[in-house]
Amino acid sequence: MDSTEFRKRGMEMVEYICNYLETLNNRRVTPSVEPGYLRHLLPSEAPVEPENWDDIMNDVEEKIMPGVTHWQHPRFHAYFPAGNSFPSILGDMLGDGIGCIGFSWAASPACTELETIVLDWLGKAIGLPDHFLALKEGSTGGGVIQTSASECILVTMLAARAQALKRLKSQHPFVEEGHLLSKLIAYCSKEAHSCVEKAAMICFVKLRILEPDDNASLRGQTVAEAMEEDELQGLVPFFVSTTLGTTGSCAFDNLPEIGKQLQKFPYVWLHVDAAYAGNSFICPELKPLLKGIEYADSFNTNPNKWLLTNFDCSTLWVRDRIRLTSALVVDPLYLKHGYSDAAIDYRHWGVPLSRRFRSLKLWFVLRSYGISGLQHYIRHHIKLARLFEELVLKDNRFEICNEVKLGLVCFRLKGTDKLNEKLLSIINESGKLHMVPASVNERYIIRFCAVAQNATAEDIEYAWDTIVDFANELLEKEQH
Ligand code: PLP
Repeated sequence: MDSTEFRKRGMEMVEYICNYLETLNNRRVTPSVEPGYLRHLLPSEAPVEPENWDDIMNDVEEKIMPGVTHWQHPRFHAYFPAGNSFPSILGDMLGDGIGCIGFSWAASPACTELETIVLDWLGKAIGLPDHFLALKEGSTGGGVIQTSASECILVTMLAARAQALKRLKSQHPFVEEGHLLSKLIAYCSKEAHSCVEKAAMICFVKLRILEPDDNASLRGQTVAEAMEEDELQGLVPFFVSTTLGTTGSCAFDNLPEIGKQLQKFPYVWLHVDAAYAGNSFICPELKPLLKGIEYADSFNTNPNKWLLTNFDCSTLWVRDRIRLTSALVVDPLYLKHGYSDAAIDYRHWGVPLSRRFRSLKLWFVLRSYGISGLQHYIRHHIKLARLFEELVLKDNRFEICNEVKLGLVCFRLKGTDKLNEKLLSIINESGKLHMVPASVNERYIIRFCAVAQNATAEDIEYAWDTIVDFANELLEKEQH
């Protein structure tokens, strides 16, 4: 494809995307296909000869789209939002057009510097303490874009592990490193995302999963008691991962309590995972949810969830960038450059070497919407969630199962888990609405999240009417 054809096909693609997004309502929200459906529609070998662009695009509509779950659909209420907006799409497009690989400052200075500046902008808007900002006088911290929250947690755990091993080695210089590693133990709540467990598996460290209170919130006393108990067993606590806005029910760990308790364990790294909720802290009225952040060593949130930025864009800030990079620096001659000592080289802040120009899309979003536009968007979702909560509360066959602080409402039919499983299953099979379940306090709950960028009160009312219709049908059947 030459640039003349790219111009033409590019316009057509923009048209296709606009039509897709404007007519999503006419599609099922989830596909009705079986595993392997696409294998039967596409050849088993790549084409030897070039194919016609129109044929490729026809296959998109006829073969790919029938297997797509439409995350931007106004009837999609599953998981958390998948950020999406035109400024972000254009930012990604420009990043792809530039096509640089910004692993070091020298590999593309603007790619590195824009990331640092934009992360400072967002960190300030969220209300992070100054020590997390890279460009603040005297600060040792800074922000970086990672691919996912899972990666943010993995790299902070790796950093905490390196720091703990260094300390243990200095205390026990003749003990083998593998033995020291076997003593390290990390902590999180039962409500933490499964990526904490995965990070511990990769880091080859023990993880103690703690019971939260009845509001799904991990408490300071629980953490302190577990750590004291483990120390008595000869283990070495080194990392605590807390969550602000859990995946299951958007619950908040008690960060001020945990932070205070951790003062007794000054070598333990405190991480805060706010993958979804953290974005909302740009609203002044929601900043109290960030209380206790002054104790944290690191914090992550995903603009690619709730800040109108397309995947991938997961932002991580650390209090001390040297503690992060010292776990991850490998410096072959071919990657060194004349400014290695003076500039940030983001390859030392994460797992991959190669990095896309991801800050462009976040910069486009922050500038196009402004903080006020993004606050409006967050508040709109919260208002819609409250509307949904009100509708549920009016029907006494249902109950609300979480404190609705942001855009997630957890609800269930009063009755057995089985009954709720059946309800969700028939709703999802219909393709009219999509939600996912979670288990909170050992109970099966249905999660309803405000997701679509331009969702309206009518969308929420449609969703509730659909749920009620299926519930009526199910309850009637159950009586016979
Ligand atoms: N942490 C929380 C609180 C989440 O809700 C999620 C995903 O929804 C994750 C971590 C994992 O996010 P990612 O897919 O970016 O790894």
